[in-house]
Amino acid sequence: MPSTKFFGHVQCGQETHLYTLENAAGFRAEITNYGAAIVRLLTLDRTGALADVVLGYDHVEGYVTHSSYFGAVIGRYGNRIADGRFSLNGKSYSLAKNNSPGGMACHLHGGLVGFDKVVWTAEPLTTKSGDALRLRYSSRTGEEGFPGNLDVTVTYTVTSDNALKIEYLATTDQPTPVNLTNHSYFNLAGEGQGDVLDHVITLHATHYTPVDAGLIPLGQLATVADTPLDFRTPQRIGARIGSEHEQLKLAGGYDHNFVLDHPRDGNAALAATVYESKSGRVMDVFTSEPGVQFYTGNFLNGKSVGKNGHAYRYRGGLCLETQHYPDSPNQPAFPTTILKPGETLRSTTLYRFEVR
Ligand code: BGC
Repeated sequence: MPSTKFFGHVQCGQETHLYTLENAAGFRAEITNYGAAIVRLLTLDRTGALADVVLGYDHVEGYVTHSSYFGAVIGRYGNRIADGRFSLNGKSYSLAKNNSPGGMACHLHGGLVGFDKVVWTAEPLTTKSGDALRLRYSSRTGEEGFPGNLDVTVTYTVTSDNALKIEYLATTDQPTPVNLTNHSYFNLAGEGQGDVLDHVITLHATHYTPVDAGLIPLGQLATVADTPLDFRTPQRIGARIGSEHEQLKLAGGYDHNFVLDHPRDGNAALAATVYESKSGRVMDVFTSEPGVQFYTGNFLNGKSVGKNGHAYRYRGGLCLETQHYPDSPNQPAFPTTILKPGETLRSTTLYRFEVR
């Protein structure tokens, strides 16, 4: 059974807690009901030593104050919506424009008070797959400008084979765009241990969605072949991150949605593998989602001081945000993100750890 401890009070005096989920091998996740965020993830290296491989804060205040989305569940819509607008069934909706890459304003990660900035209801569970935590949040109609009352359940499970499984469920009473993800920043050498440029990554994606200066998809899919975005074979992240490729220049590094090759059958399939040679840690990412945002922490700048007093430097963590494509509500050719009454959104992502 997960153990529970107090994690601090937030606005309106609400209490937050930290829940520890672990397996017999010592793999451990610490999760808070503030933003449903993964606060710590302890995995073994090849010598059997544990390290915490995600960026975050020691106290809930860090999560309240900062806006890097460390470890949080993102919603109602993960990633960007162009100009903070979309139309649905003949009605237009206007959202907060809380981000402006290249001076072009957009809606990012659910708005001013997204799912990362609310207190979720938590229920620790013992399941046959392992320690689990079920988190629920009801987003009311009109919240952050979105239509429909949306009920979201996110269940984290620590499995016996050293995976953190994340299952998302959502239902609504009106059609609404939904794109849920987790925004953990990983550093397999340990949080605060330098940048991730020596990590080696494989992405099972033949295409990506190229973006404009505002990091909004242009609409078409582009092949990764003959570009520095080709990670179909293992590549050192730093090897080509500074190349003269327009997409890397626009995003200041990797910050792109990769279109995953796996079949869209609802099952979680291997999307990415990350390897860090000093520790020997390997992380496999499996998802049922059609895309993944590979983001190399290009906006980290050392000003955010996190756990153990570590200042998180430029490119000090990498994100693999499993998702539907950015700006889907304005892109009719992309897989739909509109959830309708009577339907249930189901999505699964696993981050599984081993050593080499
Ligand atoms: C986006 C980045 C953004 C980061 C933190 C990522 O999902 O792709 O552009 O800076 O989140 O806000």
